[in-house]
Amino acid sequence: MRETNNMKYAKGHWFRAIAFAAFALLPAAALAQSRPEPTGDPKLVMTIEEYEPKSTLKVPQNPVTRAKYPIIDVHNHQSLTPEPEKLAQIVKDMDALNLYAMVNLSGKSGKDLAEGVKNTKGKYPTKFIVFANLNFEGIELPGYSEKAVAQLVEDYKNGAQGVKIFKSLGLTVKDAKGNRVPVDDPRLDGVWDKCGELGIPVLIHTAEPATFFDPQDKYNERWLELKQFPDRARPPERYPTFEQLITEQENLFRKHPKTNFINAHLGWFGGDLVRLGKQLDRFPNVVTEIGAVIAELGRQPRFAREWFIKYQDRVLFGKDIWQPSEYHVYFRVLETSDEYFDYYRKRHAFWKMYGLNLPDEVLKKLYYKNALRIVPGIDKTAFPK
Ligand SMILES: [Zn+2]
Repeated sequence: MRETNNMKYAKGHWFRAIAFAAFALLPAAALAQSRPEPTGDPKLVMTIEEYEPKSTLKVPQNPVTRAKYPIIDVHNHQSLTPEPEKLAQIVKDMDALNLYAMVNLSGKSGKDLAEGVKNTKGKYPTKFIVFANLNFEGIELPGYSEKAVAQLVEDYKNGAQGVKIFKSLGLTVKDAKGNRVPVDDPRLDGVWDKCGELGIPVLIHTAEPATFFDPQDKYNERWLELKQFPDRARPPERYPTFEQLITEQENLFRKHPKTNFINAHLGWFGGDLVRLGKQLDRFPNVVTEIGAVIAELGRQPRFAREWFIKYQDRVLFGKDIWQPSEYHVYFRVLETSDEYFDYYRKRHAFWKMYGLNLPDEVLKKLYYKNALRIVPGIDKTAFPK
């Protein structure tokens, strides 16, 4: 049969395809054996840390550098002995952001706390709120519970307006015998009940992002963070599981219905708001806050908006790390309808942000109304109705 042009073309096409495959596959195999170092030619290979593509998308931009309403930031950490100039700068930055007040969760206890209150709230009475921390040392000794309650009362008298429990409880705190102290340890029951009696909230950080407990493989969304901070990995050989810690925390909520708990960081359910909602439904004494997890909300703007409207009485504003420019991203996610804009920490989020455009009343509750209800001793008249 005479070769048609089509057949000739097909033959040539096959030949080219085979030649291309040989050309493409052989070097690929060789490449896999001696993968160039990350510092090599970026056209061929680079690390996820090096890859920083600039968005070419042109859409309306509405950056926000000052919050629409005054904010009570319930999740902050500051020195108890700040230099006066540094403290003055913090207050200046707070005013620029429209932060009416911040809760310093690193209040320690005893003398440190009393000094800290004097050094910060003493100088700027409306700007700073101090929460006390617990000391778990000697928890195995008789009389620990009474001592812990007495310390809490003293701290309260010295100006503490709440208690902060760090993630160490349940995760790393051990008694003198080396036994892990669970989040719902009965030796702490007296402290939680006393907080309820005094009318002060307990801001509690339990567990960590669930991905820290998962295998550190290519499917892990926090792979980069675990690479940059290997100590953050929580392998099951050395730590309780995520679910174990959440169970203990919920036992605590159930056991102390008259105590107000602020479950920090959306309880690490920012990526599972349905589950967080169910937790809030089950425990009317629990509210939550958004410190360090805005990137979870900024990737699900439509569902998160609906969720915030439904749970508008249950969420407080928190930020965690004091870096004024990062608050701008929080405001933009919460207040605008902007699309595909940058977050500030790649290890938390390799994705872009979208605004929730929260209704004004929801925003007011998130920014200050819910905090005014939960945290005692703040002048309500300083805020819009
Ligand atoms: Zn914190």
